[in-house]
Amino acid sequence: MPWTPGQDSDDMVPEADSDDASPGTGGASGNATGTDPEDPPMPDLPPPAPTLAEGIQITDVEVNQAVPVPLWTNGQYVDINARNARFVQNRPALVRAYWSIDAGWQPREVDGRLRVTLTDGTSEVLSDVRTVAGPADPSDLDGTFRWTIPEALTQVGATFQIELADPALAPGGPLPASPPIVPPGGPAPLGVEGDAQVLRVLLVPVHHTIFNNCPAPAAIADVELQAMIDHLHGKNPTREVQVEIREPFPYSGNLSGFDGILSALADQRYADGTDPEVYVYGLIEHCSGNSGGLAGQAISIPDWPTPDNAWTRVSVGIRYNDEHSTALLATHEIGHSLGRYHIYCSGGEAGYDPAYPYDGGDIGGWGYSIVSETLKEPSKKDYMTYCSDNWVSDFGWEVVYPTIEEVSSWGSGQYVPEGTLLIGAVGGDEPEYWFTAPGALTPPPHGGATIELQTPEGTLEVPAFVSKRPHSNTRNVVVELPVAAEDLLGATRVEPEGGRYPITIRP
Ligand SMILES: [Zn+2]
Repeated sequence: MPWTPGQDSDDMVPEADSDDASPGTGGASGNATGTDPEDPPMPDLPPPAPTLAEGIQITDVEVNQAVPVPLWTNGQYVDINARNARFVQNRPALVRAYWSIDAGWQPREVDGRLRVTLTDGTSEVLSDVRTVAGPADPSDLDGTFRWTIPEALTQVGATFQIELADPALAPGGPLPASPPIVPPGGPAPLGVEGDAQVLRVLLVPVHHTIFNNCPAPAAIADVELQAMIDHLHGKNPTREVQVEIREPFPYSGNLSGFDGILSALADQRYADGTDPEVYVYGLIEHCSGNSGGLAGQAISIPDWPTPDNAWTRVSVGIRYNDEHSTALLATHEIGHSLGRYHIYCSGGEAGYDPAYPYDGGDIGGWGYSIVSETLKEPSKKDYMTYCSDNWVSDFGWEVVYPTIEEVSSWGSGQYVPEGTLLIGAVGGDEPEYWFTAPGALTPPPHGGATIELQTPEGTLEVPAFVSKRPHSNTRNVVVELPVAAEDLLGATRVEPEGGRYPITIRP
């Protein structure tokens, strides 16, 4: 039913209108004072609708859970399939409405009223009364009407409608010539998606033991943990970010680069029985050395997550004294693990994504943090650039949305792996690192290399899946073993040009 003034009160629970009805009065309870108990109960009369404002119109409406998404523009509702970014269920959302005013407008208060209605009929009116003195201003949170839809109302099937009322006029007045109502024909879907969108991260403090002069890592402080959650949650399409902390992982290998520790952590996640959907992030203490000038690294940029490629969900980065620097870096490196490539900004970003739509790595629109409740100007940079002062673009939001949706759908502990993978890191400055892990090889082999396996049945040649590590010359080489790991008698990597490299699997 279209929501028009004067006929809107009996099919909803109007929060903003409920002050004039105290509990227990009217309705079926029939206990209103001053009435004869023999009388039938009086039905509630709907309160008169607010009188709409004259001389002001709504031009644009957008929802913002980190990136701006138009719901109404150019006089039209933006259909869900035409939107630039998806709307996450159970995540708060800022809604902003821009206005235009007639010539001769006199500054005065206007009540922006956003009605959100759920599929069960629950309805709430959020009111934003502000003085409108001039044009709307997107650069100022107070330069538009704005409301925060709480998690309880960001639900699948929810609808919205906005009207602008004049609080100086008595309710129940006549409609203006062009009523400021959007959408004018009735409520329209907010377009909330129904996916779980949970990001799980395991923080692994790395205890570097190579020189015996690096003390065991200090316990992760609450502020460090909170900063990690806030940065990951603020910039990613999540309803929840869960961060757990592992006990320190002792590592005696080289830390002048990160290739060794990445392989070791990938290996360890299987030994720990870490759930496949978990993103493992190693925290490297400053005293470990300069890490070859790198601040962080991910083991892989996987095309698509599967329970079988849990080894790809591993990255590391420096643990700084400043918790925000640590969390910024983690968001970038875990971004690689979520399938994101670099975005060009400083020029130092290797392997950047050519599909990025905004110049210079800009985020391209007014972003918003649901954590700090602040705007992010369009000239901020996407978090996959090397430029500082970053936020997230709608492009980046959409790249990681389906990945988080997929890993969230697996269910903790549900996956029973079949098969055995042989996973190696080759070609960089570090010694090769080979280990076996449960799982099947889901992508088709590519990259040219084959692995020659000596088995009790004879020699087998298996084509490998080869991918380059970000920030590194190292390549990941993966094959699925046709025999059990304990039946493997020997293995050799054979490169396309004929080079043969014996494989030593970590004992
Ligand atoms: Zn990077």
